[in-house]
Amino acid sequence: MLEVCLTAVPLTKSTSGFRVLGLQPALVAVLDRVGYTQPTPIQAAFIPRALAGRDIVGQAQTGTGKTAAFVLPFLNGWRDLNEPGPQAIILAPTRELVVQVGEEAKKLTHNPRCRTLAIYGGQRIRRQLDELKRGVSIVVGSPGRVLDHLARRTLSLARIRYVVLDEADRMLDIGFRPDIERILRHCPGQRQTLLLSATMPPPVMRLVHRYMVEPEHINLAPEKVTVENIRQTYISVDEDRKFDLLLRVLALEKPRQCIIFCQRKLWAYELYKQLRHHHKRAAVMHGDLDQKHRELIMKHFRTGAINCLVATDVVGRGIDVMGISHIINYDLPEDPENYVHRIGRTGRMGKDGIAIAFVTREQGEDLTKIEAFINLMIPEDRIDGFEACRPRPAEAVEKKVIVPLFGRRQRRYSRRV
Ligand code: AMP
Repeated sequence: MLEVCLTAVPLTKSTSGFRVLGLQPALVAVLDRVGYTQPTPIQAAFIPRALAGRDIVGQAQTGTGKTAAFVLPFLNGWRDLNEPGPQAIILAPTRELVVQVGEEAKKLTHNPRCRTLAIYGGQRIRRQLDELKRGVSIVVGSPGRVLDHLARRTLSLARIRYVVLDEADRMLDIGFRPDIERILRHCPGQRQTLLLSATMPPPVMRLVHRYMVEPEHINLAPEKVTVENIRQTYISVDEDRKFDLLLRVLALEKPRQCIIFCQRKLWAYELYKQLRHHHKRAAVMHGDLDQKHRELIMKHFRTGAINCLVATDVVGRGIDVMGISHIINYDLPEDPENYVHRIGRTGRMGKDGIAIAFVTREQGEDLTKIEAFINLMIPEDRIDGFEACRPRPAEAVEKKVIVPLFGRRQRRYSRRV
């Protein structure tokens, strides 16, 4: 496999735009209209290779412009075949991501006859059936819902020539592997397959070896994506002082838009119930909300009508809202990788972001694991005049923590535990 390594900084004016990537003028005109004047690194690397018909494995996170990177090559080669059945299928793990990818595809389409349909659970099936009958070129769907349609014979993949597996690692985490494989077996062997994934664990590589032909590997180093322009700090806090701390942080930071992450649905809901008395533009978002409700919240969050979103990890991945200035980890995630995904909601497309983690005394080691994962020491912050931690009994002492950093070096430092 050929490997191309890139950094996450969008290219500057020195590139000559999308035209040099080989896209047709009608598409370049659309890109101008929507304000995409320069390709991002993943687009610059991805598009020419995809236009050449190669299978591609792209290691990239959301916020890098990856959706346009895999949608544009298909749009460029789209032909009005006047045949039933879609020509491209894009599989994504969550409803939010399905909707978002569908919207991006619609936004970039240069021909009104090239229709995109997003299919996902929680949406009226009637509407999906009508659209499918009318004829669509691109289907974006979660694997479960796509299989539903295949079982009902309301969707045929017989004419698919372009397959995208977006956030493949996430889809496999959720347990979609059998569904994905069944869908791929419904697609013709003569096709181009593109796989996007933030990480490349062995199950993703197995999928690559099994279903892709001599793919080219494009790597956008994830640790660079996450920390480059995000100012990260943590604040030590007692569990029962967290809410007061949150109010202080919001009052001091005045976030333009923020996501406050909680670890459990119930905790998110409880926090929201408290917060709404102090903050009118707050909302809560978790996996138990019905689809209509979630879409409405995301819509208001995008427009800024809501600027404080209490959320679980359901929005930790994949959701792309520009302009999120702050991420508050009200509860630390259990998995360090989720920390990276959470804070990656800010600092998008080269903009600066702030990530603040609330850390209780018991979570010293969890924080250390996160630091080891991102290979960066997160500095502590304090709020003047606010006692986030009650004084501890005299016998409590500092404990030494040794942190192995990717086996390259060790560091020793003190942390209150
Ligand atoms: P994605 O990584 O696909 O979720 O994209 C992140 C955001 O970047 C989305 O809001 C896109 O609309 C936007 N975007 C993608 N490509 C470009 C570009 N070349 N110039 C400006 N914005 C872009």
